[in-house]
Amino acid sequence: MSRVDEIFAAYLNKGSRAYGGERVNQLEHAIQTALLAEQSGADAPLIVASLLHDFGHLVHNFGEDVFSRGLDDRHEIIGAGKLSAFFGDAVTMPIKLHVDAKRYLCAIDHAYQNNLSPASTWSLKLQGGPFAAAERDEFIKRPFAADAANLRRWDESAKQFGLLTPNLEHFRKHVQACLIVATEHD
Ligand code: FE
Repeated sequence: MSRVDEIFAAYLNKGSRAYGGERVNQLEHAIQTALLAEQSGADAPLIVASLLHDFGHLVHNFGEDVFSRGLDDRHEIIGAGKLSAFFGDAVTMPIKLHVDAKRYLCAIDHAYQNNLSPASTWSLKLQGGPFAAAERDEFIKRPFAADAANLRRWDESAKQFGLLTPNLEHFRKHVQACLIVATEHD
């Protein structure tokens, strides 16, 4: 199985999982997020990060209702960690930072916070709420923080029930292009 197929398998096998309280499933949400990135002219690594940003939700074993049980699954850390075997920082860092990016955006943009879905508002509480001023200023200086903030805006818009989109294969070329060079152990 190719490395791209290995990643896609998680979506094809588990992508019908609920996206915690939203009206789209994990696969639909991933594709909609990546499509928004692509339509916005993002480069390949950021499109791939957008596609795979919730990979951690698919590979953890806390159950589909993890947030409603009041647990923060730290899916951004789990996902970025697993994907670091396949991609460099330009893909994994926006993924790792996408939850902090929500806390950042809520601190700078009240309209963004007011438009969060109910599930996102609930998980924001579990994730620590909007950043305070010092955390906000610190965050945006970090490498890939601006990419993570863009990803996070697409993420929030990628919850449209019944939207017609290309399928996962549409993104294969981008995923393939971002793979780190295979080692002898691959
Ligand atoms: Fe998401």
